Amino acid sequence: MSEEVFKLSENFAKNVFNDAVMAEKLPSKTYKALKETIETGRELDREVANSVAHAMKEWAIERGATHFTHWFQPMTDITAEKHDSFITPVDGGRVIMSFSGKELIKGEPDASSFPSGGLRATFEARGYTSWDCTSPAFLKEDAGGVTLCIPTAFCSYTGEALDKKTPLLRSMEAIDREAVRFMKLFGHDDVKKVTCSVGAEQEYFLIDQEKFKKRPDLKYTGHTLFGNMPPKGQEMDDHYFGAIKERVAAFMKEVNEECWKLGILAKTQHNEAAPAQHELAPIYATANIATDHNQLIMEIMKKVAKRHGLECLLHEKPYRGVNGSGKHNNWSLVTDTGINMLDPGKVPHENTQFLLLLAAIIKAVDENAELIRIASSNPGNDYRLGADEAPPAIVSVFLGDQLEDVVMQYINSGDADHSLQGGKMSIGVHTMAKFSKDATDRNRTSPFAFTGNKFELRMVASSLSVAGANTVLNTIVADALSGICDELERSKDLDADIHKMIAKILKEHSRVIFNGNGYSEEWKKEAEKRGLPNKKCMVDAVESLVYPHTVEIFEKFNVLSKVELEARAEINYETYAKSVNIEARTMIDMTTKQYIPAVIGYTKDLADSVNSVRAAIPGIDVSVQASILSEVSEYLKETKNALDALAKVTIDANLIEDAKTRAMSFKDNVVPAMAALRRPVDALEMLVDKAKWPVPSYGDMMFDDV
Ligand code: ADP
Ligand code: MG
Repeated sequence: MSEEVFKLSENFAKNVFNDAVMAEKLPSKTYKALKETIETGRELDREVANSVAHAMKEWAIERGATHFTHWFQPMTDITAEKHDSFITPVDGGRVIMSFSGKELIKGEPDASSFPSGGLRATFEARGYTSWDCTSPAFLKEDAGGVTLCIPTAFCSYTGEALDKKTPLLRSMEAIDREAVRFMKLFGHDDVKKVTCSVGAEQEYFLIDQEKFKKRPDLKYTGHTLFGNMPPKGQEMDDHYFGAIKERVAAFMKEVNEECWKLGILAKTQHNEAAPAQHELAPIYATANIATDHNQLIMEIMKKVAKRHGLECLLHEKPYRGVNGSGKHNNWSLVTDTGINMLDPGKVPHENTQFLLLLAAIIKAVDENAELIRIASSNPGNDYRLGADEAPPAIVSVFLGDQLEDVVMQYINSGDADHSLQGGKMSIGVHTMAKFSKDATDRNRTSPFAFTGNKFELRMVASSLSVAGANTVLNTIVADALSGICDELERSKDLDADIHKMIAKILKEHSRVIFNGNGYSEEWKKEAEKRGLPNKKCMVDAVESLVYPHTVEIFEKFNVLSKVELEARAEINYETYAKSVNIEARTMIDMTTKQYIPAVIGYTKDLADSVNSVRAAIPGIDVSVQASILSEVSEYLKETKNALDALAKVTIDANLIEDAKTRAMSFKDNVVPAMAALRRPVDALEMLVDKAKWPVPSYGDMMFDDV
């Protein structure tokens, strides 16, 4: 045990070129200049870059690195890298290891092969990556050797952001500026910077690799397109927080170690609700670093799983009938003086700074609900949002009893004079210490829940980058704060006007507050009455990216231009159509080459059995075999008809030029045709001899070995 602890402290962040390493390795003048750039956003000069590059290279080589790469986050939700070795030829047929400031600051990958939403044509290939010195460089260490990874932003030759990081960084600047202004209203003149903290909890499934390989649907789409629930699912609630199986624990141990070496604060791990489902939560960090870390966590999980003969499924809904996976994005704002602006304190009704910020966030969410919906979405999440285990596609805010009570006081009387308190908790066993109870219970059904001193956006897709959701949160809250500051900075009676402002905003936007059961049918009806949008499919929410209001605020805060927003809308449509197309083609492939041949084989077995039993004992009753044979044959016919129909609508949808119309056709025609094919195939799985079924069952995948 003590050996482990020792190893952890020795290894933590050993592969990160972090502040401590920079302080040690950089000349003090360079270190100071770099720090100033990181902290104040001052432009970096070439001399400093050269000096940093040299120190970085020396440090990396010392640890065995042969290559470096600009590491960036294109709009694919995974990261990209192109490795270059450090070698430079010199006289005498030798090489030296070199790395210049120019190579550190700027890279030039081909931009035409990444999603650009029309921003780049194939022939306009040039794109640039540029060093983000606010995220530390790190070493990737695996069987491929050691590579120095330099976090970068990625843009086109014409300067448009082609990645997820650039808008995130821009949005962090926006929220910083507006939140500093906001804190000044409350006399916090010492606050110079506000950063946004993010803790992204990651859910995932594990599956034995041999089973995985036998499921083309998992291989091509990340989730199962066919399959029935086994006799046992998650109804006994025995997996959630259950003792972790040794094979899984060994995987988790290695994931943790890989994370720790990269300075990722992997903290909590547990079994999740569904069989073979798990979660990892790191301790929160600044938004861009938390985003980098979450991307790395997903990559590490996939890599380490393979080393253990497992596959890690990050898809939002690997199995129908049990919980899917999400990513809970915990978000808060903290000042450079150490104040968590979302901490309500013990008596929130007296904390007008908190209440006004809360009102601003509620306003921002109400005005931009669809934008939050789309920023949390990918095609996989459509299988999850609104299903029983996941938040609905209706974006509402959960505040809990204490804050809702304060909010109601404000709405009713323009002020608040008390805060409900949690009181003491007594378990009823005298030997147990009493402890104080939280003033508020939790709500697992809310997409955007206040949880003590942060908001938790619970609808983010498990395989999606968290950059998009945080870009939206930062920008819309910056906008709300900016409006508030514009008005209050002119106030003659600040205290009174703050109270009035809180009451006014809460009155106008209280429709978005909902403390009840978000999974219930009543809420859907109630939300409709309140006029809240309920976009059941992601394609229906894409348009919000280019609503005039969205363009106005994103341009105002320099986060994304109209053209960049249009590109993102286009990419969403394209991604949706492509994903569904792959799913449809996988279903067609599996049905044609695996299910139909297997079922035909089984009908022959049944027919042979009917004939041979009859031959053995003439006149014997073979009605059981015969009725199974006719039932199977009926489903086989239905399968073939559904297969042909799916093939046709898929071809038709692919012929549509316009990305939006194509996406709509996939949603309206292909998705229902997929469901129509799944039905008879799933029915057949329940009839056909298990030994003849060509792929592992849900039970095999969820309950065996993992
Ligand atoms: P919960 O049980 O409410 O989900 P946890 O303490 O387990 O809360 O935290 C969940 C995630 O939220 C973790 O990643 C944690 O680091 C993060 N978190 C905690 N406090 C904050 C905060 N102030 N801002 C952002 N994230 C936070
Ligand atoms: Mg949580």
